[in-house]
Amino acid sequence: MTGKRRLPSFKKTALELVQCPLCRGRAITKGVFYELPCERCNASGWVAASGEDLTLEELVTQLSLNLKGAMQSIEQLKKPQASGPGATYQGSNRRGAGGTNYTGD
Ligand SMILES: [Zn+2]
Repeated sequence: MTGKRRLPSFKKTALELVQCPLCRGRAITKGVFYELPCERCNASGWVAASGEDLTLEELVTQLSLNLKGAMQSIEQLKKPQASGPGATYQGSNRRGAGGTNYTGD
């Protein structure tokens, strides 16, 4: 039985986020006397690449989605590259190209 009814909610997809151009990703801007939270990016340092304004709630979700993706990438990078038992070392046997710099006549 296909008991589960899908809710007609939007599917949350990760928007592309880019560094906030105003604070350059620092999430704060320099005020006259002290640093202020950047208003442009809700003090997150990130804005939608599309330039659309994100509500704080949406921004948190987007940051979460992006962070999740980033964490997954990190985990994958951490995994030792499984290579067969007979993994062959391919030492690069580069010989420096003779650096003769002839500018003679
Ligand atoms: Zn900003």
